[in-house]
Amino acid sequence: MDDLYRLYLKTIGIQYLPGYQSEQVPLPSGDKVEHSKTLEDLREFIGDCHRCQLGDTRTKLVFGTGNPRADIVFVGEAPGRDEDIEGEPFVGKAGQLLTKIFRAMGLAREDVYICNVIKCRPPQNRNPLPVEVTTCKPFLLRQIEIISPVVICALGSFAAQTLLETDIRISMLRGHFHDCYGIPLMPTYHPSFLLRDPNRKADVWEDIQKIMKRLGSGTGDREN
Ligand code: SF4
Repeated sequence: MDDLYRLYLKTIGIQYLPGYQSEQVPLPSGDKVEHSKTLEDLREFIGDCHRCQLGDTRTKLVFGTGNPRADIVFVGEAPGRDEDIEGEPFVGKAGQLLTKIFRAMGLAREDVYICNVIKCRPPQNRNPLPVEVTTCKPFLLRQIEIISPVVICALGSFAAQTLLETDIRISMLRGHFHDCYGIPLMPTYHPSFLLRDPNRKADVWEDIQKIMKRLGSGTGDREN
């Protein structure tokens, strides 16, 4: 990791990034993400964001929802049509499936934290552009740092590849924990993909069981 990038990460309040290898990401002028000590602070800091062009086309910014002291954070790609209207992540059919997965884990939506890499819907659900990821990702990283979960679950290739800074396919990444800024990250298939290919549900359940084992290993006990 080069020193300039290390300095940038420190500037936005991220201090513990073992194994993090990235090219420098430009910090939007005047942004001081590290001033956000709580999720409420961070949401206020993001404000009516137009730091990238998605701010011009979204209906509602989708910050994230759930327990601010959750042991597990689920990270998806970006809001879809339903989320853009509601202002909440994973509220459509994929969200309903994700809620079922939580129930199978013995958890409710309120027990976990759910967010996306990108906070605003890309038009026609196109893939987020690199500049949009670069601009929005510091908000996600700060969310994760504030919550400080025991485990991160990346839903789908985009979230996994963005957080792990790799282009390895999700089919190769899933099933194993990876280091994400010192936090174990389990990639698994996105619920939208499961709706298209239900045969992959067994793989996701396998990944979820590994997460549950990790959460139940003692490191998951935190005072809320
Ligand atoms: S996607 Fe992120 S950076 Fe772009 S406008 Fe929305 S909140 Fe701001």
